[in-house]
Amino acid sequence: MILTVTLNPSIDSIYFTDTFVLGEMNRCNNPIKAIGGKGINAGRTAAILGGDVTTTGVLAGINGKFIQAELEQEPFKSAFFPISGESRNAVTVMDQEKNQTEIVELGPEITDTTAKKIIDTVIDFSFKQKEAPVIALCGSANTKNEHLYQDYLQQLQDQLGPTVKILTDISGKQLQNVVNGTIKPYFIKPNIHEFAELVNRPLTSKQDVIEQLNHPLLVGIPFILVSCGGEGAVAKYHERIFDVGIPAIDIINPTGSGDATVGGVAFAIDQGLSIEETLRYGMACGMSNALEQAVGYVSVEIVDTLKHNIVIHEI
Ligand code: ADP
Repeated sequence: MILTVTLNPSIDSIYFTDTFVLGEMNRCNNPIKAIGGKGINAGRTAAILGGDVTTTGVLAGINGKFIQAELEQEPFKSAFFPISGESRNAVTVMDQEKNQTEIVELGPEITDTTAKKIIDTVIDFSFKQKEAPVIALCGSANTKNEHLYQDYLQQLQDQLGPTVKILTDISGKQLQNVVNGTIKPYFIKPNIHEFAELVNRPLTSKQDVIEQLNHPLLVGIPFILVSCGGEGAVAKYHERIFDVGIPAIDIINPTGSGDATVGGVAFAIDQGLSIEETLRYGMACGMSNALEQAVGYVSVEIVDTLKHNIVIHEI
């Protein structure tokens, strides 16, 4: 059983234009519209693979109603609750040269009251399951509390015990505070840029990443996966370090590949698979997502094929 949490779901619109000129009227076709948010994308991936998935989080305003209606078509259960404000829009304009311009709203504020309601929902839900679910806390939040996710880890462990497996896919200050906290997540998945920010060093290659995996900041986190786009990933699992290679593919849209990777990892952890098989699922899902136009979608057949082409080298 997997539970993903999305504190800032969105309506993602992609507009395709011939040219995009700042300061001028730009006409474009109707957008491709879809719901977004890292936890929703990761949850969809895990559900497509066959996982028993529930997603939760908050929805607000008219946009929230649209997202709720879309959630009803998804392959997972969802238990979002309403808050005031308006769920965010994220707008991407893509011109013929494939230049991408993005406008992303902040989204409704997660106040202390809302934050408490969310964590109470997660804990309540977990108590109702036969076994503690794998919990994935994913994505940004519009909150003044830079320790929000750190607080969540503390509360989840206090209530659900030390064996609860909490996965985080977050970045910036929230990630920094989580890794510095006393309660560690089971798993983190920064991409190479987020990892460089975390260890405060420029990192340009997998070798650079490998050299930082023994950074004192990371002590106590059992499973660290630093994804490196088309280069695959580098992982640390307890004391073992892996260089994970992937084959070259003709990508269509890599947006959301990191979310799909988290979904694949959550599925594999929930199934109790080996670390090698877990890495294979994570990579194959990221790649399968990159082979689709849609964001946060994978194909079971493609994942099954790609899994055999992942090269795992233990260092
Ligand atoms: P994020 O989306 O969080 O920035 P990455 O870009 O590192 O994460 O992508 C996550 C995973 O998705 C990669 O480890 C890889 O398996 C797959 N992936 C992403 N981009 C590509 C690409 N250009 N070619 C092949 N696989 C990719």
